Amino acid sequence: MKIVVAKNSGFCFGVKRAMKMIDDLEKQSKEKPLYTLGPIIHNPQVVDSLKEKGILPLNDVSKMKKGSLILRTHGVEKTLLDKIKRKKIKYIDATCPFVANAHNYAKKLFKEGYLVVIFGETEHPEVLAINSQIDNKGIVVEKKEDIKKIVNMKNKRIGVISQTTQSLEKFKEIVTELMDNFKEIYVVNTICNATSLRQNSAVEVANKVDLMLVIGGKNSGNTKRLFQICYSLNRNTFHIETYKEIKSFKERVLKSKKVGLVAGASTPDWIIKEVVNYLKKIDKEEKKNGRKKK
Ligand code: SF4
Repeated sequence: MKIVVAKNSGFCFGVKRAMKMIDDLEKQSKEKPLYTLGPIIHNPQVVDSLKEKGILPLNDVSKMKKGSLILRTHGVEKTLLDKIKRKKIKYIDATCPFVANAHNYAKKLFKEGYLVVIFGETEHPEVLAINSQIDNKGIVVEKKEDIKKIVNMKNKRIGVISQTTQSLEKFKEIVTELMDNFKEIYVVNTICNATSLRQNSAVEVANKVDLMLVIGGKNSGNTKRLFQICYSLNRNTFHIETYKEIKSFKERVLKSKKVGLVAGASTPDWIIKEVVNYLKKIDKEEKKNGRKKK
């Protein structure tokens, strides 16, 4: 079995930065315990490993009596940040600079009188945080059909941005649909570089392997998108969080001569390595058993 790992798999710049901030704080801070505002990233295994170190996800800041709070990569809704400041809670802000960039463009476009359209998942914390920058006056569009919500505003000037981890292809589709309905559109591509790189690498690998594994949290938006992209190219694509899930489709894996891997931006290296090692192990066992692949 040949194992092909897509370039640019695993932790992105923003997640590495956040994890380093947590690590530094853990070593230096006297302000313990440490909390993350919700799960620091959408990866249950990483969240569990932080819990083991005593760094706990917290949803309700009013329950915080002491310690420090880490604001996650997705950014924080403005009203909540105001509350944290009012309560004088010690915090470090691990909001990814690419997300902060989307906040700035939302504010700029809004200030200039555009109706701000945010392409993204309605309930995703990043999208909620972006929209909160403009007092939730933006319109969130998940799919082309959602544009119907605003077509009666024909004379509006539209400023469109994207959730940082969206698919560029889908963003282009939304922009095209907007152009069919509105005269003046200001487009800012706020999809982050890490997302585009991962998606391009995933396409490259999914096209040339027999079976594709997409590794990452089932709650991770960017991983789900990698899955959708790979699945559209290769129906033999599986989304897993850890190597343990491979057991349920092991026979299909063993029938594959080339297995591709790509991991979402919130998937740590150790999980990718465990998957690679497991694939090598089952392949070795298979060879030992002397069964021939098709
Ligand atoms: S995926 Fe992009 S926007 Fe999100 S944390 Fe990583 S670098 Fe930042």
